[in-house]
Amino acid sequence: MSVIVELHGVTKDYPAAREVVHALRSVDLTVEQGTLVAVHGRSGSGKTTLLNVIGGLDRADSGEALVCGLDLFRASDRELAELRRTRVAFVFQAFGLLPVLSAAENIEVPLRLQGMRRDARAGRVAELLDLVGLAPRAAHRPSELSGGEQQRVAIARSLAASPSLLIADEPTGQLDSRTGAEIMALIHRVVAERDVAAIVATHDVSIIDVAHSHVELRDGAIVHTEVVHAAPVVSAPADWARRDPD
Ligand code: ADP
Ligand code: MG
Repeated sequence: MSVIVELHGVTKDYPAAREVVHALRSVDLTVEQGTLVAVHGRSGSGKTTLLNVIGGLDRADSGEALVCGLDLFRASDRELAELRRTRVAFVFQAFGLLPVLSAAENIEVPLRLQGMRRDARAGRVAELLDLVGLAPRAAHRPSELSGGEQQRVAIARSLAASPSLLIADEPTGQLDSRTGAEIMALIHRVVAERDVAAIVATHDVSIIDVAHSHVELRDGAIVHTEVVHAAPVVSAPADWARRDPD
């Protein structure tokens, strides 16, 4: 099994008016292909900073960081942009869909940017809509979808470019607990079926039990790591696509 993320002693400070904020303190983390890692901790504990560093959106100050084979401390800005474009998928709390486009068109955006031909795009979009159980909602705009459905479209879009690593920052933060659990189950299934790695940040500990391992951040430091040996295999509800919007 290959290692997708390897961090050693990763540190990041934010200068502030009064005192420096130690957003990350000597963080060690390994994430293997085909595993789902949950990062939890209270607001301000450093989850977003950690995810942004791993995804090449932000740079750390010191340590060692290898993501999809790229040394983040040696990488140029251009190499980081390439990492984000081709290897890393991002999913955020506020789904981030384009409101004037349908579900299918939103998923198609990254494929257009990639220069994929129209006929190939159509097949790929259909496959991704199927993956997230939204084929019957293909023509709906985001405003015509429930929060859970919008997040499923966002996950499908994030996977369009065939990434190796899915990074989700509080993906269930705007959803009720049942829908949040469904989104975690979907991410779990994507990890198993697509053989990607996923890192999910959350302050809600009730949804982390589908992860293969979880780490707890406190004041920028990992204070607890737990490997869940028997992570339950969860599947999408059979009535997924037919259920009324919540
Ligand atoms: P979380 O995602 O767990 O809520 P963050 O990673 O957003 O935590 O923040 C960690 C700490 O770093 C907090 O104390 C936050 O105020 C601080 N921080 C985050 N981003 C910045 C920034 N751009 N400038 C200054 N301080 C920041
Ligand atoms: Mg955050």
